[in-house]
Amino acid sequence: MSELAIEALSDVAQMVRVQLPDGSVREVAKGTTPLEVAMSISPRLAAAVVVARIKPLTAAGPASQSRDVGHPDSGADAAEEAMYGAEAAGERLVDLSSPLNEDVALELLKESDEAALKVVRHSAAHVMATAILELFPETKLGHGPATDAGFFYDVYRETPFSDADLAAIEARMAEVVARDERFVREEEPREKGLEDYARQGEFMKVHFIERFTKPGDAISLYRNGGFTDFCRGPHVPSTGRVKAFKVMSVAGAYWLGDEKNQQLQRIYGTAYFSAKELEAHFKRLEEIKARDHRVLGRQLDLFSIQEVAGSGLIFWHPKGGLIRKTMEDWMRDECIRRGYEMVYTPHIMRRELWKISGHEGFYSENMYPPMELDDAEYRLKPMNCPGHILIYKNSPKSYRDLPVRYAELGNVYRYERSGTMHGLLRVRGFTQDDAHIFCTPGQIEDEVVACIDFAQSVLKTFGFEEFKVELSTWDRNDAKNYTGSEENWERAIGSLKSALDRKGIPFRTIPGEAAFYGPKIDIKLVDVLGRMWQLSTVQFDFNLPARFGLEYKGENGEMHQPVMVHRALFGSVERFFGVLIEHYAGAFPMWLAPVQVGLVPISSDKHLEYAEKVKSRLESAGLRVELDARNEKMNAKIREFTLAKVPFVLVMGDKEAATDSVSVRTRGKGDEGGVELEAFVARAVGLVRSKEVAL
Ligand SMILES: [Zn+2]
Ligand SMILES: [Zn+2]
Repeated sequence: MSELAIEALSDVAQMVRVQLPDGSVREVAKGTTPLEVAMSISPRLAAAVVVARIKPLTAAGPASQSRDVGHPDSGADAAEEAMYGAEAAGERLVDLSSPLNEDVALELLKESDEAALKVVRHSAAHVMATAILELFPETKLGHGPATDAGFFYDVYRETPFSDADLAAIEARMAEVVARDERFVREEEPREKGLEDYARQGEFMKVHFIERFTKPGDAISLYRNGGFTDFCRGPHVPSTGRVKAFKVMSVAGAYWLGDEKNQQLQRIYGTAYFSAKELEAHFKRLEEIKARDHRVLGRQLDLFSIQEVAGSGLIFWHPKGGLIRKTMEDWMRDECIRRGYEMVYTPHIMRRELWKISGHEGFYSENMYPPMELDDAEYRLKPMNCPGHILIYKNSPKSYRDLPVRYAELGNVYRYERSGTMHGLLRVRGFTQDDAHIFCTPGQIEDEVVACIDFAQSVLKTFGFEEFKVELSTWDRNDAKNYTGSEENWERAIGSLKSALDRKGIPFRTIPGEAAFYGPKIDIKLVDVLGRMWQLSTVQFDFNLPARFGLEYKGENGEMHQPVMVHRALFGSVERFFGVLIEHYAGAFPMWLAPVQVGLVPISSDKHLEYAEKVKSRLESAGLRVELDARNEKMNAKIREFTLAKVPFVLVMGDKEAATDSVSVRTRGKGDEGGVELEAFVARAVGLVRSKEVAL
């Protein structure tokens, strides 16, 4: 049958089939809109839907795969492509007013769907552009995508926008929303769009049309009231559906990211489905701010970064140092308990070594430059692996020695661009709780299971309940960018997978994200605010054992190459500490708190003797105690300990001294009254031992 004939047939039919998520199928007239379908189900549904997702029933291939695998680093280009590029043919979001012209599976997205929220946010960007042009008609528009936190619009205007301007824009947006203007999709020839925009001096829109459409295409414009924007859509039905929004800030950005181009102003805003959600968002931002480890680090005197020494280099102060010692002691003891051997390797090593390891070639950009000493050039270590390999190689190994597990809290130095450093989270010098396991191929799976088990124990011990796991594998179509044979890769991926399965841990597979030398498991912890942090990693390596010619004598007397696993569980001690500070908002559990008990004698002369006695009793029980013997008011002393987030403050006066007791103030709970000294000691020691988070 010719195409014409098929078209004629379906024209005759004039009906299309619409399959709903419950599997039911409706026949509706061709050209019916998703909103009309919603209305026919219930007017209440029609009022609640934001946008529609359709998937042609005839189209081959599951378009849904691409739905939530957004690449985290998708840059502005990908965002622009999504806004202006040709409409996707498979599964896609469409306006509620978009006519249904083929058989489709239809999903009506309500105000709970993440994709619908993005549509609201992008629509809010149109509302903001409407307000900007009404108030500042000389402004030229770039693009205005939704983001994970809200939306922005890049605009060009010679005069910078002031805070007062932003407030005016927000107020005008409220008017645009109150006008409840429909978003109307219009199409016109590409050439007309180019001509109109060029005449108006809209150089950015001209660029987008030229870049993302082809001659002969029709382009889509969205109009609301007197404002029109070149855009692929979709949008909410009308401006009235942008119910809760805020204009946040403005920042400079160069057109196309090139500093030789015009300086644009990027105006940030955010939008939510309801005022309640918007409020919750700001509350969360406040909480994040209150937990900022850089601020708490200063307040609690935990660490500093000093310009005179260089950025990205951390000074651990006594209190931060004590927490670090506690973390490291736990880690070392746990390593030894789990069959690791602790080693130490030099901070600088000859350049020759980095050539053998391949860092000189693959990793040079991240390394500090070579320094010359009498006989050779040296480089600071960016990783501990070559050091551990040299220890392995220093004596012959047999299969009976394997697995060999070397662990080190190793300081490494990596170059990060200036301006990218961020407190403890992004630094130039840090300490990896690094280990390398050398084993036979048959031992890999058990070793990986043990690593995952160890990682879980770290998270649990330090108070994290939830974590997410990702398995990064190679892209077999791109095999030339990876070392190791296909057989090796598949076997390694298989071992990592079955290790995760054995532990019953759900994971997401991310093809193409592996390091060139092997697949890896990344464990991301979820903190108290629901933020994810990438810390622990277990990586497989085919590359280094080959480069260094590592061997062991097998059962058959022949030499074999061991396989190697790199693993770090804190990841970086500095970064982990930063996450801990934010997770606990500086109120550390008893076992980590640098000062566990603060002592306040009511009168600094009358009760000092008893306070000293209490101090030595607590110290003999292994507790970290600070006695404030200054001649200050009792309440001022209590307040200082409270600000320092000390778990317990004990107050002592005549009554306590006479009865060998203490009056207890517990962090977060307040005054708990008097208890016998020995009862308090037992409680405090119990909390340290159990590593309990709550007091
Ligand atoms: Zn748009
Ligand atoms: Zn390593």
